Amino acid sequence: MLIQNPVPVQSLTHTLLAEKAIQLSVKRLDLVHSDVSGNKFFKLKYNVEKAIHEEKSTLLTFGGAFSNHIYATAEAANAEKLLSIGIIRGERTEPLNATLARAEQLGMQFHFIDRKSYRNKMEHEFLDSLKDKFGNFYLIPEGGTNELAIKGTQEILDLEDEQFTHVCSSIGTGGTFAGLYSSLANSQKALGFSSLKGDFIHQEITDLLQQHKLSSLGSYEIFTQYHFGGYAKYKKELIDFMWWFYESFDIVLDPIYTGKMAFGIWDLIQKDHFPSGSKIVMIHSGGLQGNAGFTERTGIKLPSLSA
Ligand SMILES: *Cc1c(COP(=O)(O)O)cnc(C)c1O
Repeated sequence: MLIQNPVPVQSLTHTLLAEKAIQLSVKRLDLVHSDVSGNKFFKLKYNVEKAIHEEKSTLLTFGGAFSNHIYATAEAANAEKLLSIGIIRGERTEPLNATLARAEQLGMQFHFIDRKSYRNKMEHEFLDSLKDKFGNFYLIPEGGTNELAIKGTQEILDLEDEQFTHVCSSIGTGGTFAGLYSSLANSQKALGFSSLKGDFIHQEITDLLQQHKLSSLGSYEIFTQYHFGGYAKYKKELIDFMWWFYESFDIVLDPIYTGKMAFGIWDLIQKDHFPSGSKIVMIHSGGLQGNAGFTERTGIKLPSLSA
């Protein structure tokens, strides 16, 4: 479904990298689809298969109004000729923002709920009320992380990627990171960059690994100092970095996930975190559909492919 392997890996050239004798590459999941976060397709792949196997005609999931996961679910459902329903936090505003407008064009039907109901969205009573309303749908959790999502993200790395010593990814719910970590080859290390503020993410990842009985041949480390104020928060320094990265390497990042991760990696390289000879790959998980919404929301122009 919508994933063409192999995903291109781009090697970056820069004097800092040469100076530190470090190789830095980008696994371009953003090229899996022009707009959808590449990691989301890996997360959806086995869920969609299961929905079809169970003869469910509708995918139902949850998200905020700018959610990459909502958009990816709309794309995936459309590609597989399934219906999709997005339960969206907050009120409907007209016109719809870029994310929702395009998801709607793809056929997604929205149901807007207030923040309090949204918090209780996974409770039986609420899910039953959705069943009454929308019939027998296939449920995908907010952010898309579940057992089958992790099975999908375990396929992001392939044999070629065993050459790398460090595999870097941004962390939202942690489903992508858990899949990457559990699929590492011997002595590889997964580095996770949390987009959310707080140390709770360490426990969340521990729980996720335990819950899904995931082990690894490699090791991992999580960085929590590159959130720029919290989820969907930003600072000028981050935006400037994204522009610099684009002008240096011709790669567009997003301000929610990949921009923060790339900033963190570059910072760690400057601070000699990586031994010389390290071969680092950063997973560009995509998310570029959200850039238009970010600009609508903040007035800040971001690099874009059409620029
Ligand atoms: C959703 C998303 C992530 C985070 O993935 P999780 O599995 O929730 O941790 C990272 N990058 C992008 C671009 C995303 O859309």
